[in-house]
Amino acid sequence: MMVFVDGHAHLDNKAFRSDLGACLRRARDAEVVAVINGASDGPTAKRARDLAHANEGMWATAGVHPHKAKDHLQDPLDWIRSLARDPKVVALGEMGLDYHYDFSPRDAQRTVFERMMELAVELEMPAVVHSRESDADTFVMLENMPPGHKVLLHCFSGDANLLEEAMDFGYYISLGGVVTFQNAQETREVARRVPLDRLILETDAPYLTPHPYRGKRNEPAYVPIIAREIAELKGMDIEEVARETTAAAEDFYGLKFG
Ligand SMILES: [Zn+2]
Ligand SMILES: [Zn+2]
Repeated sequence: MMVFVDGHAHLDNKAFRSDLGACLRRARDAEVVAVINGASDGPTAKRARDLAHANEGMWATAGVHPHKAKDHLQDPLDWIRSLARDPKVVALGEMGLDYHYDFSPRDAQRTVFERMMELAVELEMPAVVHSRESDADTFVMLENMPPGHKVLLHCFSGDANLLEEAMDFGYYISLGGVVTFQNAQETREVARRVPLDRLILETDAPYLTPHPYRGKRNEPAYVPIIAREIAELKGMDIEEVARETTAAAEDFYGLKFG
């Protein structure tokens, strides 16, 4: 039997409001035993925490997504300190930079990312980092983290050179549906090269649905599709990908699944 983990999703999203139970049953049928829900702000973090208490095999993070940075410039982030005391809240995130959408001004994104990193260090919690078209700045800023602090570059979108840099710093990466897109050559090359003990699988559901369901809503039951693609790219058995990526997720989040 295989055990898969969805290392980053958003099941608090309204896309799951009508059929979350059915989604979780499909996930279990697909041997996806755990889901870690990311958060974008206070309300999503609290919903993720509540979901984690209401459902077996679910955990949550708490953080401010770069999209929301402009709303948190004066925020002392005490709600994160209080959520972090909950045993179901296992990491801080999302945090980081997103220069693709620029929903918040870049200086606001950098200010809030810096404070999120300080909070992760203060609370001794792993950091789930979102970086889109901002990798140069993200990597410079991450160098302020103490060596060895756990960092996950979720939905890693860099190339093989950036992967090498990430591995040198001891970061984890997560990959999702994008590896199944035939035109995503850089990400497929990253999948070939990344050592499995640094790789976590994610869906980022409801977003980034893998082929052949692209265009539809994503859900945790699709993790094995991503695993199968990575196994094929690496020339390995899917069983090995399942075992190693689940172990990496356990190491990163400090949990034991299955
Ligand atoms: Zn993200
Ligand atoms: Zn996300």
